[in-house]
Amino acid sequence: PVLRVAIMGLGSYGTRVAEAMQQCTKAKLVGVISGTLSKIAAWQARYNIPAKNCYNYENFDAVKDNPDIDAIYVITPNALHKEQVIRVAKAGKHAICEKPMAVNAADAQQMVDACKKANVKLLIGYRMHFEPKTLEVIRMRKAGEFGAIRFFQGLSGFVIGDPSQWRMNKALSGGGAMMDIGIYSINGARYMTGEDPVWVTAQETKTNPAKFKDGLDETIQFQMGFPSGAVASCLSTYNMNFLDKFYLNGEKGFAEMQPSTGYGPIEGKTHKGPLTQPHITHQTLQMDGMAALILENKQPVVPVDGEEGVKDMKIIDAIFEAIKTGNKVSLSWQK
Ligand code: NAD
Repeated sequence: PVLRVAIMGLGSYGTRVAEAMQQCTKAKLVGVISGTLSKIAAWQARYNIPAKNCYNYENFDAVKDNPDIDAIYVITPNALHKEQVIRVAKAGKHAICEKPMAVNAADAQQMVDACKKANVKLLIGYRMHFEPKTLEVIRMRKAGEFGAIRFFQGLSGFVIGDPSQWRMNKALSGGGAMMDIGIYSINGARYMTGEDPVWVTAQETKTNPAKFKDGLDETIQFQMGFPSGAVASCLSTYNMNFLDKFYLNGEKGFAEMQPSTGYGPIEGKTHKGPLTQPHITHQTLQMDGMAALILENKQPVVPVDGEEGVKDMKIIDAIFEAIKTGNKVSLSWQK
């Protein structure tokens, strides 16, 4: 069986996912949801999408009665994800949602609850969880090859361009660099160490306060502490390019990846030598991997479900609280 997917939001990342899906064997692009008729027409022609699988943001609830679509991949501005995923769930379709899954943990939890209630799956677009060099480092860590993990460093940033884009509008983005790119260091700290943090501290700085107005973070340094005693030191920024590096050190060894989360190829080495796993388009691996999770009930190496997304949102909430209060903020993971 093949997972039949409709993409909601035909922007730059939606287009990248659609192109990558052309190489998938288990997932197929069969539908679109868009507010722009000219984009729908272009996608229909390029991907051979029938008119009956095309929807807009007003009428997509009717996908409920379309037996030819299994899942909807939401690739719209961050603040829209919550309502859109909940509508997808109510239509009885599996939801795949881009990161950040929402703009805070409370909204994210509502999405998880709605999907649970509707008995549909919710997966978050964490493409690195399917990337071969990343998975090799995780395998080595689980095998004890680094010894006890003591330290992670995550550096995530790029220079944001056009100030009129939705990423620079808090109502649509929920925040600045942290929601967009800093989340890679948060998620990476968790999959590289294999632990969830129990405290965070954070400091915000701005080199361009005129561009980064209230609620739009430019640069945040943050630290996390893990139950084992391991610590992480991270930087999230919208003020420099080529900032894409992970470093993991244990008692006995290290892994270093740069670039670590870009579209690839990922490059890296460990104390045992270079990482040589092949580069395959991340979104192709992700969509085939997600099809296997949904259709074959496979278990991922690193979770990509809604609960995994909620964890990152809880950490982002804590980072913003730490900045506001100047305090060390504790996190607990009991339900
Ligand atoms: P984009 O601006 O290129 O595309 C967004 C799309 O949403 C556009 O087609 C736009 O028309 C549509 N849209 C619908 N309602 C809108 C509204 N009210 N206001 C503005 N646009 C609206 O953005 P993008 O780069 O494709 O990002 C979309 C999502 O994908 C974001 O959540 C982003 O974080 C995520 N993303 C993830 C990755 C990744 O590697 N996983 C990479 C890029 C973006």
